[in-house]
Amino acid sequence: MSVWKSQLVYDARGTLAMLASSFEVSVPPLVLTEEIGIGGSDGRRILLNVKWFRRMSSIFSLTVVASRALLVAVIAHEFCHHLLGDAFAPSGNSHQRELWADRWAGAVLSALGFAPGDVELVTWAISPGTATHPVGWERMQAIRAGFAEQFRLQVEANSRRRHAAG
Ligand SMILES: [Zn+2]
Repeated sequence: MSVWKSQLVYDARGTLAMLASSFEVSVPPLVLTEEIGIGGSDGRRILLNVKWFRRMSSIFSLTVVASRALLVAVIAHEFCHHLLGDAFAPSGNSHQRELWADRWAGAVLSALGFAPGDVELVTWAISPGTATHPVGWERMQAIRAGFAEQFRLQVEANSRRRHAAG
């Protein structure tokens, strides 16, 4: 396995393990496949197309931070589908489920110290809007909303800690 690929898989597994432990669920297996566009969840496993990250990295000349943020965002998005069992949900509210998973990804980005801007370019570029997935600006709005929410929770938690300490 090449260095970039090992690093990516290592980061993906680490992010998955961290999320699973936060929610006290077992870590879903990570499956590498080129049969899907970016990532996916089938209710049991998290699927990831590592070649897609390689391609995005080179097309957009992503920095190391932006590449990692993109990976975290995709893993968090898929983990949200995994937790909610979206693979088994009726297909009716597909856009709503996607935006909810994006919002979730925004919260995780914030918790891990990334910025929404780290994934903005790619989110806009890859999301023209389809029957299953909302358009880029809508997805970015959801990521920002999740980010703001998490950020607010952190600020509140910090100020509670300060009060408790003082
Ligand atoms: Zn999704």
